[in-house]
Amino acid sequence: MIRANENFNKLQASYLFSDIAKRVQIFQDTHPEMEVIRLGIGDVTRGLSPAIVDGFRQGVEEMAQDATFRGYGPEQGYPFLREAIAANDFQSRGADIAADEIFVSDGAKCDSGNFQELFAKDIKIAIPDPVYPVYLDTNVMAGRTGNYENGRYQGIVYMDCLKENGFMPKLPKTPVDLIYLCFPNNPTGATATKDVLSAWVDYARENNALILFDAAYEAFIRDDRLPRSIYEIKGAKEVAVEFRSFSKTAGFTGTRCGFTVVPRACNVYAADGSKISLHGLWNRRHTTKFNGVSYPVQKAAEAVYSEAGKVQVKEYIDGYLANAKVIRQTMTDLGFDYVGGENSPYIWIHGGGRDSWDFFDLLLNKAGVVCTPGGGFGRCGNAYIRISAFNSLENVTKAMERVKDALK
Ligand code: PLP
Repeated sequence: MIRANENFNKLQASYLFSDIAKRVQIFQDTHPEMEVIRLGIGDVTRGLSPAIVDGFRQGVEEMAQDATFRGYGPEQGYPFLREAIAANDFQSRGADIAADEIFVSDGAKCDSGNFQELFAKDIKIAIPDPVYPVYLDTNVMAGRTGNYENGRYQGIVYMDCLKENGFMPKLPKTPVDLIYLCFPNNPTGATATKDVLSAWVDYARENNALILFDAAYEAFIRDDRLPRSIYEIKGAKEVAVEFRSFSKTAGFTGTRCGFTVVPRACNVYAADGSKISLHGLWNRRHTTKFNGVSYPVQKAAEAVYSEAGKVQVKEYIDGYLANAKVIRQTMTDLGFDYVGGENSPYIWIHGGGRDSWDFFDLLLNKAGVVCTPGGGFGRCGNAYIRISAFNSLENVTKAMERVKDALK
């Protein structure tokens, strides 16, 4: 008899985006004249920059000729892209990462979800609350948690991120083996200083733990004092893996490309305490289960690092940051407490005592604006909403005018 993986029974059905869609539909049906403005889902809205389209086109044209056609490429990515990434994203910032420590993939969701396969079932895992749900759900599927009770899975060490601690996860009191961190953060938009990351690197070194650092939003960092990569922190190379994505950096949510950095210096431990190369394990897993990103997509990603590409990508992100500024100013004017939006596309707003779904309904029904209720990201999000800067400046401005009218 073919039997199911019963760990899936523990998963909480994610009604978040379907619930949002239902409520928006009801509103639209009863207010057909109202144009709904969506600042909910974290998807980009602007077209690919010209330099990227040129790279893409060049890749497609090469594929059309026998002489330049490419079939299966290296599973880890073409050297031209791995070298461009290592030089521009890491070495130029003083982080000593080599091209062969970079694994190109179809995005950070798959990699951040799949990485846990490399670890034993009984490790202790620390996860922030609120959180990008992929880290949690993939560990539930793998059987590393107990049941879901009072809004939490048994067996996980949750790290509350609230106003009281500046939305920064605190070092756990009991030792943990695997730590998920994400900065700039989804959903809160909070960013971590070098000191904060240094404390985590020290913790990981002292406890023979590993940090999985999700830097999918690093391109939004404009404050030069903030680290863009965990490898800007001394000692991180031995204890951290980093996930990156071209999705938000350059509009690749539909094009699909990202990468994971697994330094050769990183080890895990066998049951007898001997060291095993994490790079070797991930390479084995990646080459077994993944067959590479398409050549034109890698050419498009390479163009992100061309002279023209760098200028255009900066302008691309600047556009979303300008939207974030409008949202922040509106929330300041209305007297709301919020975090994020300065080096991040997300603004995390405290509802002033409202439950996150009540606040969501208020903005939808009174302003025709869609946000994301914070409760969908964990128990600590129940008093918050997330507003995203991914839309046009015109729409964001219109949305914020409506929010002001509705709430003043
Ligand atoms: N990591 C975080 C924190 C995200 O918010 C997202 C997407 O929203 C991803 C990873 C997924 O990125 P990708 O599009 O590369 O799969």
